[in-house]
Amino acid sequence: MIIVMKSHATAKQIEDVVQWIESVGYKAHPSSGVERTIIGAVGDNRDKAVLKYAESLPGVEKTMPILKPYKLASRESHEGDTVVNVGSIGIGGPEFVVMAGPCAIESEEQLLESAYVVKKGGGQILRGGAFKPRTSPYSFQGMEEEGLKVLDAVSRKTGLPTVTEVVNPVDVDLVESYADMLQIGARNVQNFALLKKVGHARKPVLLKRGMMTTIEELLMSAEYILSSGNPNVILCERGIRTFETSTRNTLDISAVPVLKSLTHLPVVIDPSHAAGNWKYVIPLSRAAVAVGADGIIVEVHPEPEKAVSDGAQSLKPEKFYQLMDDIRVLAKAMRN
Ligand code: PEP
Ligand code: MN
Repeated sequence: MIIVMKSHATAKQIEDVVQWIESVGYKAHPSSGVERTIIGAVGDNRDKAVLKYAESLPGVEKTMPILKPYKLASRESHEGDTVVNVGSIGIGGPEFVVMAGPCAIESEEQLLESAYVVKKGGGQILRGGAFKPRTSPYSFQGMEEEGLKVLDAVSRKTGLPTVTEVVNPVDVDLVESYADMLQIGARNVQNFALLKKVGHARKPVLLKRGMMTTIEELLMSAEYILSSGNPNVILCERGIRTFETSTRNTLDISAVPVLKSLTHLPVVIDPSHAAGNWKYVIPLSRAAVAVGADGIIVEVHPEPEKAVSDGAQSLKPEKFYQLMDDIRVLAKAMRN
């Protein structure tokens, strides 16, 4: 249920309504707009009728049911765009944000070299996996905690904030202690224990759409994180599995405007895992800017032919610079 406050409601009236909501067993999520504050009351759907009584409280204009099953993620509960801060970088605001780096952290040298490329090109956030969810148990599984230490050291040397994947609830605290943002990968989009655990983390979460999840299922997964207490969720479209085999996945570009209409959360695109081939990464990134995404997360490697993971889709440094030049031109055109 949404409780809409009158435009002149006082801070005390808002606080009293928040307390009343909690006293009847619901969680209150106030959100202040330009005109008025609305308070989302989220909890057990079965006895939500009690929330109607909020209409008799001072400062309350009306109550409205939230029709969508994803309550906190929906635009109904939060009209304006949410900006999620990763270190000093805001995602979801006016800036188009580029997160880039290798698929997997392989060594300090490799990550540092990648980070210099990212920085020189104008990328704002460094990516790199320490825990890798691999299709084959015989493939490189990541450097784990050693990799996290490398990520942290490189971040300190370059000043770039970081994003890295966590695949197991027991590792969330560890990953959070080293990285600026936690990635939930496509394969874990419906790992509800993991979603709840990152919902208790203090760092933002980059939630990737699964290769077989609908947009509504992705938003329900975001809802798990939001309802556990973490308001900082960024959604990522990274390609879905279709009958088409000429790309690794099919980038669902329409997911961006659809998500933008349904949710206030930032939306980014991962062109690398969608394409599976570096040749298509630049055109798909251009499409990401044009379609109104808030940023991209892209794989870059100093020597893709030697990469232990996803080399075929990783950009060489000079291709990354070209991509960044294109993005600057397009982002400026979009702002105008
Ligand atoms: C990755 O970012 O390297 C990754 C494994 O991505 P996805 O979960 O989208 O496959
Ligand atoms: Mn990868």
